[in-house]
Amino acid sequence: MSENLLRGFAQNKLAKLKSQHLRRTLVETVRSSNGKVRQNSRELISFSCNDYLGLSQHPNIIKASQEATYKYGVGSGGSRLVSGNNPLNTQLESSLAKLKGTEDAVVFGSGYLANIGVIPALVGRKDLILIDELSHACLFTGATLANSHIIRFNHNDTSEVSMHLAKHRKSYQHCLVLTDGVFSMDGDLAPILELNNLCERYQAWLMTDDAHGLGVIENGRGSSFINGSAIPVPLQVGTLSKAVGAYGGYLCANADITELMRNRARSLLYATALPPGNLAAAIAALKIIETNVKLTNKPLSLAKRFATILGLKPPESPIVPIRLGDVERTLKASKQLKDRGFLVVAIRPPTVPEGTARLRCTFSASHTETQVDLFAKAVKKVLADQ
Ligand SMILES: *Cc1c(COP(=O)(O)O)cnc(C)c1O
Repeated sequence: MSENLLRGFAQNKLAKLKSQHLRRTLVETVRSSNGKVRQNSRELISFSCNDYLGLSQHPNIIKASQEATYKYGVGSGGSRLVSGNNPLNTQLESSLAKLKGTEDAVVFGSGYLANIGVIPALVGRKDLILIDELSHACLFTGATLANSHIIRFNHNDTSEVSMHLAKHRKSYQHCLVLTDGVFSMDGDLAPILELNNLCERYQAWLMTDDAHGLGVIENGRGSSFINGSAIPVPLQVGTLSKAVGAYGGYLCANADITELMRNRARSLLYATALPPGNLAAAIAALKIIETNVKLTNKPLSLAKRFATILGLKPPESPIVPIRLGDVERTLKASKQLKDRGFLVVAIRPPTVPEGTARLRCTFSASHTETQVDLFAKAVKKVLADQ
């Protein structure tokens, strides 16, 4: 009886989503090394993948992962605090800190786990969080878990941040300002230098999430760099699951903060450590990112090439959104592009705000210029025919 009620509950929710064109389905997808994927026995060129450097398919990285798996086994066997702290964790943390120019880094199970662990370990009930309205979902989850007073500010609006700090900062003990470094659905960069200066002025702490910056912005160093020099952002979160091509998350910060996380971040304390093969893969990938400027610059240069052909504004990252607004129209464009051999997923609310459904195109070092040109031509045709 209650089993039937439960089923009915799910069916009602799903029917409602379907009527709004917001029902999603998982599509089996097999990726290969040249920007191509196979879906339902069809081969497509994918412009919907975050493996910006193709490193998930890199032979040396696969080999590093295999060797560590043979040496240490598949799973890590426990939380890092219990028995899961394989020495590869420390090695990976040193590589991350070196690449980012921070004193230390601490590795988490994923980017999502990093954000929901770090934020509540820093602020609580007596504190204030200012968060960019377009920040990734897991920053909002972390902020909610912290139980702090939360103010959302308009996207990239530093004058609004300044106004809130002037008005509210003194009523709270600590203040954390949260933003994506590269916005995951829009591809634009946060005004990190200005935000960091404001935070300095008001004794607030800036935390940026560089999930889409590491490996592809500023010779791979990420969005907290400008013309080769580091902005001293005190809290830099990111993922090992995108350009790094593996899985996991991290916080780069000073050594006292990372030590605090090893003591207080619940998603680190109470979750199993990353598998050794994955840690070894991330270490090998960071070595490539550190040295191969030609590779790390390629995704953005392909994105610019695409934007030029379509007459879009020059992108700041390898993410190029084509906003169509209407959900049905966006789904139709995505389907028509699939018919032409290109995978580009329609992004709909609640992932993006109401009325801003879009095709989110991402460019990777695995793409060729010819593939990008063909894709641009197809997008032009599909949009013209709508
Ligand atoms: C993808 C993403 C995450 C989540 O990282 P995972 O490692 O996939 O859990 C966090 N923040 C941003 C901005 C992201 O784009």
